[in-house]
Amino acid sequence: MRLVRYDDNRLGVLRGQKIHDVNNVLDRIPASKWPHPPGDALIAALPELRADIEEMADQAPTIPLGEVTLLSPVASPSKIIAAPVNYMLHLEEARGDAAINYGMPVKTIDELGLFLKSPSSLVGAGEGVERHFPDRRIDHEIELAVIIGRGGYQIPAERVFDHVAGYCIGLDMSVRGTEDRSWRKSLNSFTVLGPALVTPDEIDDPDALSFRLEVNGEPRQASNTEHLVFDVAKLIAYAAATYTLHPGDIILTGTPEGVGPVVPGDVMHCFIDQLGTMDVSVTEPAVHHAAVA
Ligand code: MN
Repeated sequence: MRLVRYDDNRLGVLRGQKIHDVNNVLDRIPASKWPHPPGDALIAALPELRADIEEMADQAPTIPLGEVTLLSPVASPSKIIAAPVNYMLHLEEARGDAAINYGMPVKTIDELGLFLKSPSSLVGAGEGVERHFPDRRIDHEIELAVIIGRGGYQIPAERVFDHVAGYCIGLDMSVRGTEDRSWRKSLNSFTVLGPALVTPDEIDDPDALSFRLEVNGEPRQASNTEHLVFDVAKLIAYAAATYTLHPGDIILTGTPEGVGPVVPGDVMHCFIDQLGTMDVSVTEPAVHHAAVA
């Protein structure tokens, strides 16, 4: 199953290029009282709702994928966990390029551990990425994103896939510079997730997915998750060793070589085998003064 969230927080099942609207199922998400349990209530309820969602999709009105604004398939992650330098060729690239490393030593994932991005940075493919600083280099990083389903803590390695709700294409956008990763990668719109949450039964092997990113048709990144230094299972176990994982938590697995700058007007075309494609635009920042309820 391929779940999309679109337009005004509608829920749909993507089949081919058509969205089957299953918004009515949202009424069946169990209500909760304060303090609401951490994580995404839809992802938490998915095992119970899935059969009904599929059935509803069979009967549902459809909308062409191209006519909607895609939001992040996960609405409310409690955290976005990310792997630094998890492809050897990206490690070598970062060590060899001062515009990436800013004179700082580039360590390995064994030395760095994981890092966290703010959940407020999360957007969908249709919302686009804002360039906040005209004078700073902003890079694309395409990554396989793992979405946690059932929560857990200190999950044994052989059980980690029992805790996966699905997979998405992820973009870990980054301002290059000397600041801490958690700042450079947490700006509004700097985590893009899409186009759909694809459940594990649709994926042959998350550690053997080819993927690529083009900017305005120019090839930039192309690799395969078989080259991950810490593979998907190891990343989940590593994260769960120290963090309690909640439904909807996102693990960005790291980017390969070929990172490069984008500017307003650019369109990033992202492809991961079996997960689909998404086009993400880079824009000038809108002027925001709004208080947010
Ligand atoms: Mn990254």
